[in-house]
Amino acid sequence: MRRPTLLLASLLIAILGLMAAKSWLVQAPPLRATNQATEFDATRAKARLAVILGDQRARPADTAADDKVRGHIVDALREMGLNPILRDQFASNELYKQRGVSCARVRNVIATLGPPDGKAVLLNAHYDSTPVGPGAGDDGVGVATLLDIASLLKDRPLKRPVILLFNEGEELGLVGAGAFLADPLSRNVDSIVNLEARGVRGPVNMFETSRPNAAPIGVFKAAVRNPVANSLSTDVYRLLPNYTDVNSFAERNWLTLNLAPIGNETRYHSAGDDLAALDPATLQHMGDQTLALAQSLANGAPKTGGGERFFMDIAGKTLVVLPLALGVALLVILLLAAVVIALRRGQLVRGVAIAFGTIFASGILAWIALAVIGAFRHGMFWRAEPVWTHLATYACVLVAAVLLIVTIGRQLTTSQLRASCWLVSLLSAR
Ligand SMILES: [Zn+2]
Repeated sequence: MRRPTLLLASLLIAILGLMAAKSWLVQAPPLRATNQATEFDATRAKARLAVILGDQRARPADTAADDKVRGHIVDALREMGLNPILRDQFASNELYKQRGVSCARVRNVIATLGPPDGKAVLLNAHYDSTPVGPGAGDDGVGVATLLDIASLLKDRPLKRPVILLFNEGEELGLVGAGAFLADPLSRNVDSIVNLEARGVRGPVNMFETSRPNAAPIGVFKAAVRNPVANSLSTDVYRLLPNYTDVNSFAERNWLTLNLAPIGNETRYHSAGDDLAALDPATLQHMGDQTLALAQSLANGAPKTGGGERFFMDIAGKTLVVLPLALGVALLVILLLAAVVIALRRGQLVRGVAIAFGTIFASGILAWIALAVIGAFRHGMFWRAEPVWTHLATYACVLVAAVLLIVTIGRQLTTSQLRASCWLVSLLSAR
């Protein structure tokens, strides 16, 4: 191999390596070795979850295994001096984003903290699992969070009631959430923090809000110290056929924040969603955020209205929030500037063709690769091997880009290419 080719090949491999390492860079804040008495304690919460899950059997709604887990939750609440309410209901619920209705006998466990009257904050998690696994993440992480928060908030002077709902039947089609809507307690609720899981490690993402989002984003930004959220992912989530209890509650127009970890998604809804796989740092990230949000929402009624916001976190340290109108204006200015610069530098058509061509060609390459591998390996191999799948996808992008640059982009200078690529990035930003 000639030296420049060797250099280029090593550079491409290095870029690929960095791209693959990206998933390891996004982590939950490290687990605290010691906690203040007022702080969420993930080690204590996980130990309590281990007691609640017992032999870690799968516990679909209305089964003996689920009855046992519910018994442990009620015991844990009583040991804290709380007086949990047990509702026994037959409920049915429309399946969102799908056709069908789901019905079951469900028993929701409800604990209330703070003053007996007034508008309330709802913290929601489900304690049933799918039939295939122990659901230590989905939604043990939510149950463990609610219990530790109950132990912390029960002695604090709260201005507004906080309702902890451990619902049954989410996995059957949000039946427990549907049952809660028939509960008189639900009439006082004006805001909800929903705790879910689609993985067992990594940071806990805030992936859904009520709309308009200015009010929930305002609460989230003010309360949460390590935010992981951006408006692009909340927009994408809305397009997905996924649902959580929040879909059931949507008809009430409560201020809504939905939290979930997604790291090591291969464990989700599988036998591998067990306690050993659940990262306590992830539990701590969920606990810290939920405690801060509950405390803030319990201090006073949240604002309403306020329009739409763009938002994104900077490395999980702070949240940048922009009014939608300002964001759009900035985008238009950047777009115009990019057009002017790209026109001045010349070769605009070729440059844009390379950038768009890379997007389309890499999509086609990835699709062909999937079809070829799929001919030999059945099932969802891309979920089983996420690192290799990401690497292969990034490799498709690099191959397509290099091929286009050395063919139609031969005469283009780096500055011409850069201007066109920025233009295409800005165009795809909206
Ligand atoms: Zn779930």
